[in-house]
Amino acid sequence: MVLAWITCSWVCYKVIKHCGSRVDTLQNQVRQLQQQLNVAYQGTGYAPPVVHQQAAGGSGKLSEVLFFPDPAMPCHYAGNCRRNNCTYAHQPTNLTRLLQFLGSARSTIDVCVFTITCDEIAEALLAAQKRGVRVRIISDNDQSKTQGSDVERLRAAGIPVALDADQYHMHHKFAVLDSRMIANGSFNWTRQAVLFNQENVVLSDNPALVAQFCRQFEILWQKYYKR
Ligand SMILES: [Zn+2]
Repeated sequence: MVLAWITCSWVCYKVIKHCGSRVDTLQNQVRQLQQQLNVAYQGTGYAPPVVHQQAAGGSGKLSEVLFFPDPAMPCHYAGNCRRNNCTYAHQPTNLTRLLQFLGSARSTIDVCVFTITCDEIAEALLAAQKRGVRVRIISDNDQSKTQGSDVERLRAAGIPVALDADQYHMHHKFAVLDSRMIANGSFNWTRQAVLFNQENVVLSDNPALVAQFCRQFEILWQKYYKR
């Protein structure tokens, strides 16, 4: 009995000590990163990005890259498909990983992409909105009017959309989840990119990267969003 109590106390002490040191390490990382950014931006005429404590909540363990194209679009009945000769994918693909990634958002998804015509991705954003995630979209004004664009459909569903208003393109392809993780790369959110193009998407929760993408999203949102 006494031995069990001593063992339990020792484990609790170790857990508390470990958590305490982790928080301390993160705060130090944030402070150091902010100092580095301040120095790097000196004399550039630009304000340095502000490193959010929240953005530093990423573990830094997510470091993944998806390479498209996929062999096929995912089967809607995957795992339970009884169709003979079904040509859709029944195994995980890059797209299913990206959909899973979007599905992991708990509070916010900030999307900043040139174009959205991939219905599966649009559905993932709608599903996120339905489960209470605040979704915002920045996209290109020319692309939003092209055939097959899902942007207006998403706007009609109540998702706030900001479009650039000039002759040049809003050409980013990134998304920030929960101010904690990013997806970024060449990949346009289109069916063609899924099935045919050579594309990449990096998934990361690197605090320094996440903080800078958060800041850029806010800058563009202020610039383009019309109430
Ligand atoms: Zn199938």
